[in-house]
Amino acid sequence: MRQTTASTCCYCGVGCGVLIEHDGAHIFDVAGDPNHPANFGKLCSKGSTLHLTGDLDARALYPELRLGKGLARARTGWDSALDHAAKVFADTIAEHGPDSVAFYISGQLLTEDYYAFNKLARALVGTNNIDSNSRLCMSSAVVGYKRSLGADAPPCSYEDIELSDCLLIVGSNMAYAHPVLFRRLEEAKAKRPEMKVIVVDPRRTDTCDLADLHLPILPGTDVVLFHGILHILLWEGWIDRDFVEAHTDGFDELKRTVRDYNPAMVAELCGIGIEQLQRCARMIGTAQGFLSLWCMGVNQSTAGSAKNSALINLHLATGHIGKPGAGPFSLTGQPNAMGGRETGSLSNLLPGHREAGNAAHRGEVAAYWGVPALPDTPGLSAIELFEAVRGGKVKALWIACTNPAQSMPDQHSIHETLATCPFVVVQEAFATTETCRYADLLLPAASWGEKEGTVTNSERRVSHVRRAIPAPGEARADWSITCDFARRLEKLIRPGQPSLFAFEDAAALFDEYKLLTQGRDLDLSGLSHALIDRLGPQQWPFPADREQGTPRLYVDGKFPTETGRARFLAEHYQAPKEQREARFPLTLNTGRLRDHWHGMSRTGTAARLFGHVEEALLSMNADDMRRRRLLDGQLVRVRSRRGELLLPVQKDDSLAPGQAFMPMHWGNRFLKGLGVNRLTLPSVDPLSKQPELKHAGIDVEKV
Ligand code: SF4
Repeated sequence: MRQTTASTCCYCGVGCGVLIEHDGAHIFDVAGDPNHPANFGKLCSKGSTLHLTGDLDARALYPELRLGKGLARARTGWDSALDHAAKVFADTIAEHGPDSVAFYISGQLLTEDYYAFNKLARALVGTNNIDSNSRLCMSSAVVGYKRSLGADAPPCSYEDIELSDCLLIVGSNMAYAHPVLFRRLEEAKAKRPEMKVIVVDPRRTDTCDLADLHLPILPGTDVVLFHGILHILLWEGWIDRDFVEAHTDGFDELKRTVRDYNPAMVAELCGIGIEQLQRCARMIGTAQGFLSLWCMGVNQSTAGSAKNSALINLHLATGHIGKPGAGPFSLTGQPNAMGGRETGSLSNLLPGHREAGNAAHRGEVAAYWGVPALPDTPGLSAIELFEAVRGGKVKALWIACTNPAQSMPDQHSIHETLATCPFVVVQEAFATTETCRYADLLLPAASWGEKEGTVTNSERRVSHVRRAIPAPGEARADWSITCDFARRLEKLIRPGQPSLFAFEDAAALFDEYKLLTQGRDLDLSGLSHALIDRLGPQQWPFPADREQGTPRLYVDGKFPTETGRARFLAEHYQAPKEQREARFPLTLNTGRLRDHWHGMSRTGTAARLFGHVEEALLSMNADDMRRRRLLDGQLVRVRSRRGELLLPVQKDDSLAPGQAFMPMHWGNRFLKGLGVNRLTLPSVDPLSKQPELKHAGIDVEKV
């Protein structure tokens, strides 16, 4: 019988509600959920084709194990698979200590999955070696929010896009990466053409079509631009001095720092006109509601934390925060990167926005979990974690719902690392990912439409992800695999003690987790799966005594810092790690296409989604191609300090001379050589540890 199940799209951080049409065994169709407050019935090309991406040929269906590196994996049962994994992990921990094992998880997991993994790593194994691919995505925004405002909490709502009269979009091709939210912006601009839209991006992307002003700054010069804008705001008196006086610290030092960033110097360093810069500052300085939106162009940088803070400085200086239509608003890349941060799924965090390096926080979580203590050795962030595997310090690695063999920078070295790691477990829905090839144990996971849980989108809204059909083959929900493994492991390393993992379903995990957020900035203690079903998706904080969520933070001008005041950060511009030079004269930028998601494990199974762009191409400015005597479609060799790729080139006048662009989606399956991350570098921001995935020096030559 045909049925409809309301759920949530599994792709980006907009978090759209979807209605799944199915008969209990197969999914026939999807439609936008008109009642979901993120999308009000709209879906983009990816969301609206979800039902076409369930190709069973691509799925991992049964556990598979191999007992030696040179052997092929063979099908096995769940009991033998998880018993074997528990024994290897227990033996490794006994021989080499708890930090000899590690977990690398994903912003695609549900909150309940994340929580199970965190409890497994910190409470049972006793390691902080648990990090997530969110490290590659939002960790600079996390540092930005925490340093400037005191907590990792985007303060705005999507409706602020409709209420703003000046929008600054930085390092985000929203039209492709967050399409439904971009539709909301297009509609708002059509209704109120006087609304000003400024796009800051080295490329002239489709998002720029909506812009009143496009600032094509040179890659990596964001901090110069933000300080230059503040310099003009100060000069013109477009500062909210009452707000600065009442609610912030550090403005005098920042004023001294930005004094040198005069318009002539800023225009030259950023490669834009003085008039463009002044126009931008005027739009911001005279706005009634100034909202900024940003994404990977800001975060994926060795100066990502400084860029975030310099942007937030503009909001604090103008008092545009905590008001309708105003505030700094990071656009989350993955569907549940927010839920990951909430549950502590970066190595330096603990559940409830706590810090692993804070003894009091460790004590609170240990007491709640009923274990003597949590580990105090700092955990490894993504890049450090794979370096530790390469160096032999980490000997057993559990990878869940992510594809580091494609997504990590310096991809070739990651392949070498995975090939030599003594024991690699890959918990995955799709058997076709690059990383599965390195699995000693492959555990089939349920995917979208097949499992229950929650996700938090970019506006802090928690939605219920519902199961419509059973998982194929023997695939199981991620939380269930994790807890089953944990129960077997605790029998070996914590024998005779009551289980920490006696959860019957995802709702039980959520109910335990939510109490760890009580009294914290993200308090979710009033929420449950049942309440979300009754009231609809809700924005945190949602304490137990509330009837509805919180659309906007800091409306009273109080910030969750020790003083209650926000902090200006005064940091100078740092250039990207790899500058252009004679051997590598072009700057490579990487990013998304409209119709694909990450490594295409799902979208790569739907022919319709290749209509927009059929193959991986290197995009270059026409002048750069002419100088190299390159023609459209010609095969070129692209070289960086890490390696080279062969692929066709195309002329793209959205790029300035000296710049090139390549999409992130293609890996081995689609391209001669590895994917774009064969070329990118593993240098990281010193605070966020986020790698510089958007800026590498390259050279291009005809094959
Ligand atoms: Fe899914 Fe994002 Fe598209 Fe919404 S905008 S349908 S969440 S991919």
